[in-house]
Amino acid sequence: MPNVSYDEFREKLKSAGISRRDFLKYCTMMAGVLALESTIVPRIARAIEMDKRPPVIWLEFQDCAGCSESLLRASRPTVETLILDTLSLDYHETLMAAAGHLAEEAKDKTLAAGNYLLVVEGAIPTGENGAYCVVAGKSSVEQLREAAKNAVAIITVGNCASFGGLPKAAPNPTGAVGVMDVIKDKPIINLPGCPVNAVNITATIVHYLTFKRLPKTDSLKRPLFAYGFRIHDNCERRAHFDRGEFVRMWGDKGHRNGWCLYHMGCKGPLTFANCPKVRWNQGMNWPVGAGHGCVGCTEKDFWELGVYHQANIPEFIPPATYPKIGRAKKEIPSSTDAIVGGLIGAAVGGAVVAGLTQNRKRNPEKQE
Ligand code: SF4
Repeated sequence: MPNVSYDEFREKLKSAGISRRDFLKYCTMMAGVLALESTIVPRIARAIEMDKRPPVIWLEFQDCAGCSESLLRASRPTVETLILDTLSLDYHETLMAAAGHLAEEAKDKTLAAGNYLLVVEGAIPTGENGAYCVVAGKSSVEQLREAAKNAVAIITVGNCASFGGLPKAAPNPTGAVGVMDVIKDKPIINLPGCPVNAVNITATIVHYLTFKRLPKTDSLKRPLFAYGFRIHDNCERRAHFDRGEFVRMWGDKGHRNGWCLYHMGCKGPLTFANCPKVRWNQGMNWPVGAGHGCVGCTEKDFWELGVYHQANIPEFIPPATYPKIGRAKKEIPSSTDAIVGGLIGAAVGGAVVAGLTQNRKRNPEKQE
């Protein structure tokens, strides 16, 4: 798909039913996702509309195509899909109309020209010399090395391409690994998730178009704007966690009332991603919001985390010797206070008098 001009891009927005106002709203949302000030919005809009956008090669290896689905999930064209549309998406096995030699020729042309962004979806099977995934007579490892050679940068989409994902789960029969285990000499941005959130793909590309550089990352090469936050710290169920209100069984009272899913295996406390903030399906909802615990899909080897293992929640039971607290006291009516006081006073006074009398009997010389 060729690069489009400023006018062509505007025409595309119009024909997709996206008004100028909607487009600017989208740019404002992008600034928010990237944690940038709103003053940057006009610059983002200009970068998307005006700049010559880099070509993109999208390779797909050992995966379920869920990340492509995530990108195309919308029932109507969105600005995200149009941005990728207007990038020159020169090769995408699932989306392109061309097939066979024509498709391979288009890819070879872009590879030879260089300066493209390489997007990779799916793990790379390295076992048996890469025989588990062969496209056009070349193994995934060969395809990846060839495509990475002239790329400006590599963006991995989904946990499989980032860290090996499900194909790498024990016993990993195909020797699946992530892109960064094969390619060591190129800038890599990992966008893990199962699937990746399309907002984070476009935000990474918009950042690149606007600033001509890739966003800052953590030690796993994940951009901080999207993976710099712990799910647990932004979760709408957090107040229930803090109050010790946990779902104990699917469908119980706590589940119906939106209590914390930690006991049911939620991995939110271990997982870094912006899901609670950007959500899914045009910001409609996200897994924890829909009543399912976070499975930790943006983390390395999340399949080994025991996704459905229930967590033990220690409960403090005080020993029997502790004084009982919190029990309602019987109130003593004020009219009886004086009587009770008088009786206590009489008892204490009587005891003192009896004591003195005994003392006098034992020591008669001390008597007055
Ligand atoms: S549901 Fe999960 S992420 Fe949310 S507060 Fe509970 S443990 Fe944390």
